[in-house]
Amino acid sequence: MRILLIEDEKKVAEFVARGLRAERFAVDISNNGQSGWEMASAYNYDLLILDLMLPGLGGTEVLKRIRRQKSQVPVLVLTARDGTSEKVENFEAGADDYLTKPFAFAELLVRVKALLRRGTTDRSSVLRVGDLEVDRLAQQVRRAGKRIELTSKEYSLLEYLVANAGRVLSRTMIIEHVWDESFEGLTNIVDVYVRHLRSKVDVLHPCKLIRTVRGVGYSVSDEPET
Ligand code: CA
Repeated sequence: MRILLIEDEKKVAEFVARGLRAERFAVDISNNGQSGWEMASAYNYDLLILDLMLPGLGGTEVLKRIRRQKSQVPVLVLTARDGTSEKVENFEAGADDYLTKPFAFAELLVRVKALLRRGTTDRSSVLRVGDLEVDRLAQQVRRAGKRIELTSKEYSLLEYLVANAGRVLSRTMIIEHVWDESFEGLTNIVDVYVRHLRSKVDVLHPCKLIRTVRGVGYSVSDEPET
């Protein structure tokens, strides 16, 4: 599941992102309303966490624009204010839930999961490539019906590859998505994790789903290899 966090307070953004990533969510951060709005319109997020007091374009305006585009993405509003009239205004603008700062991460997580469950009742949470299934809500992986146990990072990497099945993803794209932006290790970390994934997902099966695209990166596909 991919979450966009629009929050200008660096400490809050890092705290929330770290916690969500530990729960296997992929998190993109925007620190202002304009770029947040652009990211929300450009990518297909599963959930938005939106601060109200933002430099430039305010959170309520971001929310209104998103809804004007007919986007149904669940939006959890985060704010330091707790005035009733403001809550009403934001619910009317299309917020799905509201959390007042300061908050405990556990409460944020419960609300995020509830919103994601609601959002996926009418569309399947299961991604499929060939006989591989990734249930994004339960965070479970099966191949040919058999459950595969993955570590947190392995799961995030596989979910990203499968969600983009058929597309080639560069090591840089994978690192930006699966690891923190602050990650400064070597890009061969991706190769190491792909090796782990192959040993769990592909090794027992004649059709290898995880493909190396030489000089570029990786992709997942069940098309016959050329
Ligand atoms: Ca703020």
